[in-house]
Amino acid sequence: MDVHCSTCGEPWDVYHLWQDAIFEIGLTHAEAERWRSLSRRQKLSERYRQVFREAGWEFGQGVINVARCPCCPKGAQPDPGRVETKAALEDLMGDDEDGLAAAFEDYRL
Ligand SMILES: [Zn+2]
Repeated sequence: MDVHCSTCGEPWDVYHLWQDAIFEIGLTHAEAERWRSLSRRQKLSERYRQVFREAGWEFGQGVINVARCPCCPKGAQPDPGRVETKAALEDLMGDDEDGLAAAFEDYRL
């Protein structure tokens, strides 16, 4: 399943976001391994948001809500309508990340 960046529209595989992207942002392997067992909220604590941001990533509540990604052109801004729709779906789905991924794919978000 693919989700799309809210800024540049780049498609990202949700399993890559859940499992692999963490290994590409400059953490140690052990820390990236540890990250994968954290809760959704802990995964995007301020500290991890900062590390992701330095690698070009910004997210909504969870990592499959991609607001900005490393493919974004410099200075590009997220599409406000897309950000709003994704935030509403995140609220609606709560902790059901599989359901959220499916909804994003259905709506090509
Ligand atoms: Zn992007």
